Amino acid sequence: MQSATQSPPSHARARHGVITSPAIGYQQVRDANPAPRLHSGTPSEYRDGVSSSVGKKTARVVAGEVVREIAFEGLQRLPSEAELLKRFPVSRPTLREALRILEMYGVISLKPGPGGGAIVNEVASYQFANSSSLYFHLMQLTLRDLMATRMRLEPLMARLAAERVAQGDLSADMTDTDGNLTLSEGDIHLSVARLSGDPILVLVAQALRDIFSDKSSMERVRKDLATNVTPPHELIEKAVRSGAANDAERLMREHLTDYVAKLEQSYPNLLDEVIDWT
Ligand SMILES: [Zn+2]
Repeated sequence: MQSATQSPPSHARARHGVITSPAIGYQQVRDANPAPRLHSGTPSEYRDGVSSSVGKKTARVVAGEVVREIAFEGLQRLPSEAELLKRFPVSRPTLREALRILEMYGVISLKPGPGGGAIVNEVASYQFANSSSLYFHLMQLTLRDLMATRMRLEPLMARLAAERVAQGDLSADMTDTDGNLTLSEGDIHLSVARLSGDPILVLVAQALRDIFSDKSSMERVRKDLATNVTPPHELIEKAVRSGAANDAERLMREHLTDYVAKLEQSYPNLLDEVIDWT
């Protein structure tokens, strides 16, 4: 799965786990469905109620409006609190509650002090992974469940990746100056996900992988099994590069099946562990 050199600690992986927007058309979608301009009045939802439950509801509504603003304007940093209060006519506590909601979801990071403020985070799989793992935990899902889903998703993504290569359907950020396919160094799983061209699949697949890797025991597991993954990774890469969709799908399935079998053998109880929300 991951090679030994691809095992940064989880906080570092989070930084590296940023999903760069794949080639398919967020921009077109946005253009086709222009969001209505905001702040053209005082929506009744913004009016702060006296009761805290109304206040909370309002904070959630404001949080939603801020998300719309971030997405529409491509904001990297939110305006000052004073500016936000002008845009959203709510009380200061309600605005702060809205920002806390966004911070909790990993949409923004609140930095105190001069030069601080609300920094907009790039959408990253770890945020999605963090939320997902909460529900997985509540559902008592295990690492085996998670691997079963990966074994369904990743062969499909390998096929999609190879098909895109075969069709020459690659964006500039997927190729070097000579038009050759560039793959993430040492990580065919990440490359396949990005090449699949389906941003939702990428997010889900990356999150599943993040959750799997975040188990602390995985560090030990990776070291043990890392030496075995290079040959299958190379075969998958070769199939993807040559646009051989059937081979890419089959090889990815075989690789994951083999990996799970090795895990079962070396760590008999590991796959039955319930996924932790941490
Ligand atoms: Zn692998």
